Formats: sequence, structure tokens, C-alpha cells
Amino acid sequence: MIVECASDMDPRAIQRLVEHLQARGKPVYRIHGPQPVLVCPDDHDLDPQELQTWPGVRRVIPVRHAFQLAARDYRPEGTQIRVGEALIGGEEPVLIAGPCAVESRAQLLETAYAVREAGAHMLRAGAFKPRTSPYSFQGLGWEGLELLAEVRAETGLPVVTEVMAPEEIPLVAEVADVLQIGARNMQNFSLLKAAGRQPKPVLLKRGMSATIEEWLLAAEYIMAYGNFQVILCERGIRTFERMTRNTLDLNAVPVVKRLSHLPVLVDPSHGTGDAAYVIPMARAAIAAGADGLITEVHIRPQEAWSDGRQSLTPEAFARMVREVRAVARALRELYRDAP
Ligand code: PEP
Ligand code: MN
Repeated sequence: MIVECASDMDPRAIQRLVEHLQARGKPVYRIHGPQPVLVCPDDHDLDPQELQTWPGVRRVIPVRHAFQLAARDYRPEGTQIRVGEALIGGEEPVLIAGPCAVESRAQLLETAYAVREAGAHMLRAGAFKPRTSPYSFQGLGWEGLELLAEVRAETGLPVVTEVMAPEEIPLVAEVADVLQIGARNMQNFSLLKAAGRQPKPVLLKRGMSATIEEWLLAAEYIMAYGNFQVILCERGIRTFERMTRNTLDLNAVPVVKRLSHLPVLVDPSHGTGDAAYVIPMARAAIAAGADGLITEVHIRPQEAWSDGRQSLTPEAFARMVREVRAVARALRELYRDAP
């Protein structure tokens, strides 16, 4: 159960309410988010009507899931997150594009101009790369972050970039408009807590073996520590299939939309692992109801230092943008005719 308090509710009155709930032997978590909120995950014999009569209590929301703040019940209207000119969770699909990794100033700048020209709203690129092998390119690190800052200033594109360690958050957040938490870190709980204690929006990728409930509980961590600006990203899960790098679980899109109010993006690059399949799955993701896409684009994919095989050329990305916009338009017409 979630008890949402008025922003100006006296902290002492909130404390009395907490004690009232604790007196029933219930765990109560006080969340310091955009509004003061109490979460009582074990609410079996609490009476919502009684709580609703407390002065200062705005809403009492029973939630039937292990995740609470991330549940659709909390915000049935859905969450929208503004980043630059883009509204994630709004009408238009939001398009994030760029190379897997920052490689050089020229590579990043050229790609950024190309994706901006094609219609991207944000630039993606990793400076810190979580690689399976310690012998693979690990990213340019702080030097890569400086290049991201320069290219951001030069192109005006907001930046999405990965952060791998809690202690790196403050410096990465100086450059990043959105902090990415990668699939391999989805259950790095110290990182989730630290991402919750800072204000930048967080793009939370689904772990490659994570169930949807585990993924939403990872989002819940970020929210429970105070940051309600969480964007989910489906990037494919590991299955027995070997013809694609991962199996892009598009089931997750309508399932998450129903269970949660958080916006959901799809990454068809890591989801398929092959540029040949990226555009069809990008179209399918939008048709399934995704709020946008994050796609890898490289000026010369065959020369990329990581993930070249799944990277689109700028020309292919421009085609992807045209096609996903056509799908989004078709959907709007469909719903206009038959709401
Ligand atoms: C990436 O976005 O380049 C990346 C490493 O993604 P994931 O965490 O989904 O593997
Ligand atoms: Mn990549």
C-alpha cells in the first residue's frame, strides 16, 4: 500500500502516521521522493478508508505487487519524463541513437550530427563499457566522458551514457542527461541505491536473465531511494536461440505497460545483435507500444571497436526513423478511428 502525503504535510504529522502504522506491527518505509510517500508493502489488514481520513494524507493506494512505487496503480495516467526537447512517455516515440562506445572526437561528433539530422532526440555512447572479457575494449573512461561533454555542447543533443560504479555517478552525471544502468548491472543494488539518491533520469536496462518482476523491483530500488524518473529498457534476454545475440522480448512491452506507469524503451541493437534485424524489430517495438528506441549507429560499423555487427549506418538509421514514424502515425490513426 502507498500512502501519499501532501507536499506541505508537517514532518511531525508524518512521523505520527508512521508510528501509527508501525504500532500495527507493519514495516513502513518513508520515501523522500517528489512528494512525501509511505510504502507499506505488507498491507493485509490496513484499512485504506481509515488512513484516508488522516489530515495531510492525499491518497491511499492499495497495490497488489511486490513492487509498489513502480506499479501502474500508483500513477494510472503514466509517467512522462522530459529530457531536452523530448518527452519520454508522451505521444511521439523518443529516439536515442549513437555508437556503442565513444572512440574518438571525430567518430562521436560525426555520428552525433548524422543521427541528429536523421531525427534522433538524444545521443547515446558509452565511455565506461561493461565488457564480458577483461581483454576487450573497456571504453575511454574519463577521456570519453570529456568528449561526450564537448559533443553535447556542440550539437545540443542530450546525452545518455552508462555508469558502472556508485562512486562514478557524480562526475558522470555532470555530463549525462540520462544515466544508463546496463543489463549486467541491473541488480547491482549499491548502484541502484546511488542512482536513486541523485536527480538525473535513469535508463534501466533489463538484465539478460531477469524476469519482468525482478526488473520492476530494480526500478523500485531507484524510486525507493527518491528518484522517480526511471525509464525502463528492454534489450533482449538470453534463451536457447543462437541465430540472434539475444531474444528481444517484445512481450515485455505490453506486460510492463500494464503493470507499471514507467515509460519503456526498446533496444533492437542488443536485442538482435545483427544490423539486418534492427529495423524490423524497431518497427515491431513501436507497434507493440514502446515509448521509443535506443539504437546503435556507427559511421563505419565494420571499423567499430565494439558492437559493429549490430550497428546501423547513419543512412540505415535515417530509414529506421522514417519507418518507425510511419508505424507511430498508423497507430495514431488506428486509435483515432477505433478508440
Ligand atoms: C550498451 O548499451 O552498449 C550495452 C552494453 O547494453 P546492455 O547493458 O544492454 O548489454
Ligand atoms: Mn553496445
